[in-house]
Amino acid sequence: MYDVIIIGAGPAGMTAAIYTARKRLNTLVLGKEAGGQMVWSSDVENYTGFSVITGAELTLKFQEHLATLKDSLEVKIGSEVVSLEKNITSFVVEDTAGNQYFSKAVIIASGRSPKHLGIPGESEFFGHGVATCATCDAPLYKKKTVAVVGGGNSALDAALALSKVATLVYIIDINQSLVGDVVLKQKIENSPNVKILNNTKSTAILGDKVVTGLEIEPFGKPREVLKVDGVFIEIGYEPNHKFDELTEKNAKGEIKVDADLMTNVPGLFAAGDINDAWGEQIIIAAGEGAKAAMAVSDYLNKLK
Ligand SMILES: Cc1cc2nc3c(=O)[nH]c(=O)nc-3n(C[C@H](O)[C@H](O)[C@H](O)COP(=O)(O)OP(=O)(O)OC[C@H]3O[C@@H](n4cnc5c(N)ncnc54)[C@H](O)[C@@H]3O)c2cc1C
Repeated sequence: MYDVIIIGAGPAGMTAAIYTARKRLNTLVLGKEAGGQMVWSSDVENYTGFSVITGAELTLKFQEHLATLKDSLEVKIGSEVVSLEKNITSFVVEDTAGNQYFSKAVIIASGRSPKHLGIPGESEFFGHGVATCATCDAPLYKKKTVAVVGGGNSALDAALALSKVATLVYIIDINQSLVGDVVLKQKIENSPNVKILNNTKSTAILGDKVVTGLEIEPFGKPREVLKVDGVFIEIGYEPNHKFDELTEKNAKGEIKVDADLMTNVPGLFAAGDINDAWGEQIIIAAGEGAKAAMAVSDYLNKLK
């Protein structure tokens, strides 16, 4: 029986683990991989203490910190949680290998993942011209032509970042008009190398070894192929909580939490991008990890 199981080893999960381990709570971290979305960030310029650091380097620093706290901390990377249940005495967490773990409290810190289009060529060319991270990959498209699929803030952000390096940026938006923030929309409209194609569906990504084109279908018109060197899929994110049927979610699928980051289930907390608290940033996720860990400690003290 662990005191606490932490699901996810991104900034929220790793920071929560540092706090629970330092409070000598018997802690188990189950994470698919270390670092979460932080690893995808080329340059992080807003994590206090580092004017600039790559996401990969910051992940290493977090891991080194965790490694100093072996006494009451067990970290299993490569472990994906598939179910989370609560019985009368404890939480029961199961991973893909069928291992079952038991604890008095749980912190869900499983973050979120980019949504996929599910069209031909998308997975085949992923990493070979198909990307979901303009922050990481925009510099690769200097003087090239790229398409950004989507019409919300993620897409507009990506298009702006790409417009600074690429020759031409298409925004392929299935809706009648863009739905992002006004300020972002104005910036896009003032970028001469960004071309917006509304009412247009993306139907296939084409290429040989790398992407060479995007097949599109403007509503009511025949399909055509845009010659592009890259396709950025920016249609938003979805929270990673397929394993959890215990907690209440908001309309966006985020786990609802109170001011102590506790969910509707006593002893079950949620920290970082997975919850409905405002702000999706590394420092916010780390801060929420710390706060959830302290709240767990308080919760367990009151159980005694
Ligand atoms: C491209 C990009 C660039 C960014 N740049 C910045 C930046 O410059 N500065 C900044 O502050 N923020 C940045 N962010 C945002 C920041 O990375 C996130 O807000 C932060 O990583 C959220 O941390 P988290 O721990 O809540 O979740 P995540 O980072 O998503 O980590 C969650 C972890 O849980 C794992 N997991 C999911 N499901 C399971 C499961 N069933 N079992 C076990 N493990 C599971 C995931 O695999 C992942 O490793 C960026 C994000 C992206 C995508």
